[in-house]
Amino acid sequence: MLLIGNGPVITRDEKNPFLPGGCVAIDGSLIKEVGNTSEMKEKYEGSRFVDARGNIIMPGFINAHMHFYSTFSRGMPSKYAPAQNFAEVLDRLWWKLDKALTLEAVYYSAITALIDSVKNGCTTLIDHHASPMSVAGSLFEIERAAREAGVRASLCYEVSDRDGVDIMKQGVKENIDFIDHAAKSKDDLIAGMFGLHASVTLSDETLSFCREAMDGRDAGYHVHVAEGPSDEEDSEAKYKKRIVERFREFGITGNKSLFIHCIHLNERELDVVRETNTAVVHNPESNMGNAVGCAPLLKLFETGILTGLGTDGYVSDMLQSYKMANALQKHHNKHPNVAWGEIPTMLFENNAKICERCFKTPLGKLRAGYSGDVIVSDYNPPTRLSDENINGHLLFGAEGCSVVTTVASGKVLMQDRVLSELDEHAIFARAREVSERVWEAV
Ligand SMILES: [Zn+2]
Repeated sequence: MLLIGNGPVITRDEKNPFLPGGCVAIDGSLIKEVGNTSEMKEKYEGSRFVDARGNIIMPGFINAHMHFYSTFSRGMPSKYAPAQNFAEVLDRLWWKLDKALTLEAVYYSAITALIDSVKNGCTTLIDHHASPMSVAGSLFEIERAAREAGVRASLCYEVSDRDGVDIMKQGVKENIDFIDHAAKSKDDLIAGMFGLHASVTLSDETLSFCREAMDGRDAGYHVHVAEGPSDEEDSEAKYKKRIVERFREFGITGNKSLFIHCIHLNERELDVVRETNTAVVHNPESNMGNAVGCAPLLKLFETGILTGLGTDGYVSDMLQSYKMANALQKHHNKHPNVAWGEIPTMLFENNAKICERCFKTPLGKLRAGYSGDVIVSDYNPPTRLSDENINGHLLFGAEGCSVVTTVASGKVLMQDRVLSELDEHAIFARAREVSERVWEAV
């Protein structure tokens, strides 16, 4: 048994939302009980006790859309003329970087992003991967990194036509191999999805090929949808239909699928997303950085679409994405009082609901039977803190790096900012060597 106690506990469990001097007891990988610290210490005498020393105890964060491989873009010198639009961002940055990735680079870009995530209190991630010159085995390298980091991860490979039929088929095979492999994993720490880049790089023939390959498998698709306006323009020009209509015809919609961004959907497309129970993930910082527009978040909620929050590889800190999403909606809607409810709902409720679609273990609450994913934040509130105003404290006060202790599936991954199982400095030093070679090849 593991006890994490002696601090205010925010459970996100409506039946028992806040315990001022609380404690979480974890048996194996699952939460056994949440209660008063002294009572729990007595009841579970002899258990390992992690002392929060008055700091805030919360469920671990979930990142619903990530690109681990983007880590090696950090600080990369650019050899190409500055991009003038989103298509050029893809062409001059991401499609040069991903081609330069070896399997070793895939592993090191993932493990460093995962360490960053653990240090920001993130215990579950849904990743979308591309390495066209090193497709076979890439998801298995990322799985190795995720298992070493100790977090739960859903992985997929980004199928696209941009590098020819052979690499497209390798991507399909990698997805299927990994989906089948993950389906057999007993610990529920790994899941597979079928990754697709975006409508603009996927022909009808490719989508049919993907669909046939997915036959009989209980997994969804993870795809960028209408990120830039040119994605919709391309679909209308080539196929005489909108992206969501097109994807529905190929069976890509559905309650296991994730549509990322959805910035430029029209009313009809929003209705189809809801009717098919497809989930959407919003990535505010990436959208702002790529100047692709602002997702119609209020409309997504109004329509009844399950919408979560991701970082799109921009950062590993969910609280940064949370703050950005809040400011962006107010700015975009030219109203200082919108989206107070929607933003925390995305991060603290909907990301867990999205994960329920790919994992069996319930996540996102400190409640008996839920995954033992617990973080301690040393954010020191200058005003009264409770379950009723915690979202405001997190929005305006705490940061990802306020997290001092991260526990995932009952394993202490970081305590007092020190990683328990990994030699962070050695891994980052090696990553700098590996990334240097990637930069040379870009
Ligand atoms: Zn993305």
